[in-house]
Amino acid sequence: MEQPRYRGRFAPSPTGPLHFGSLVTALASWLEARRAGGDWLVRIEDLDPLREPPEATGEILHSLACHGLHSDEPICYQSHRHDAYQAAIEQLLAQGKAYRCQCSRKQLKANGGYHPAHCRNGTSAPATAPCAVRFALEDQDCHWPDQLLGPQQQAVRAELDDPVLQRKEGFYAYQLAVVVDDIDQGITHVVRGSDLLPLTAQQLQIYRAFGAQPPHWLHIPVIVNAEGQKLSKQTHAPALNDSRPVGNLVGALTALGQQPPAALVEGTVEDVLAWGRAHWRRDHIPLTSGHPPYDT
Ligand code: GLU
Repeated sequence: MEQPRYRGRFAPSPTGPLHFGSLVTALASWLEARRAGGDWLVRIEDLDPLREPPEATGEILHSLACHGLHSDEPICYQSHRHDAYQAAIEQLLAQGKAYRCQCSRKQLKANGGYHPAHCRNGTSAPATAPCAVRFALEDQDCHWPDQLLGPQQQAVRAELDDPVLQRKEGFYAYQLAVVVDDIDQGITHVVRGSDLLPLTAQQLQIYRAFGAQPPHWLHIPVIVNAEGQKLSKQTHAPALNDSRPVGNLVGALTALGQQPPAALVEGTVEDVLAWGRAHWRRDHIPLTSGHPPYDT
């Protein structure tokens, strides 16, 4: 059977400006796509306006452009995709693969994770208050291959782990939107940080519920700070300095286990990206988290 054309993506949540860890992810996904002769798309995962400073999306897109990383297609914004998410939820509800849930986190905790209102079996009282919608997982010993980390195994526990697809405040959740968009955009390969590895088995079940082919996943180790915490807005990761993109890109290649020659820092953004394309070795990516190679 003919393989579909490679389509990869970088999908930042605009909770703040890009930091070194997100550049490493963006670059790895770009290099994988370029080496495969495929497409590389940017998707802004702006699902939660309460966590997203209004300037963050513009800052992220500006940073990517400064580092020579341009989406091959118009950028997809999840904030423009609510109709698709609503339709997906209605489909899952109609198929009995999702259910409405009024339980608070406190109630769930007090009940060992099981829903006191029996939400899953439809015996819960009619909604009197706003409800969340959850995906009904199946008990499963899930196995799948990761293109970097090798065979993966995860136990999925029905009811206990059921992810929220839509929060009771109305916001659509990452677990729904990421699958719906990757399906609709025809994404064949996902390269992302290994902090998302634990969510992959659930995502596989959501793909299956939509009758869709899941992508190939490649999880790269996250970049951590001196305290061993993943670089993120919560851990106060500094924003990328867009005025020194060459140094940042050479640092990102180094963090990805590639060995760019020292002289590359004298070159242009295009030189660094061309070197990365020509020399990309997936098998050189380290398997464990790393620190920024130098002060970023
Ligand atoms: N939006 C997610 C993040 O910024 C990434 C989602 C994904 O790559 O699946 O962490």
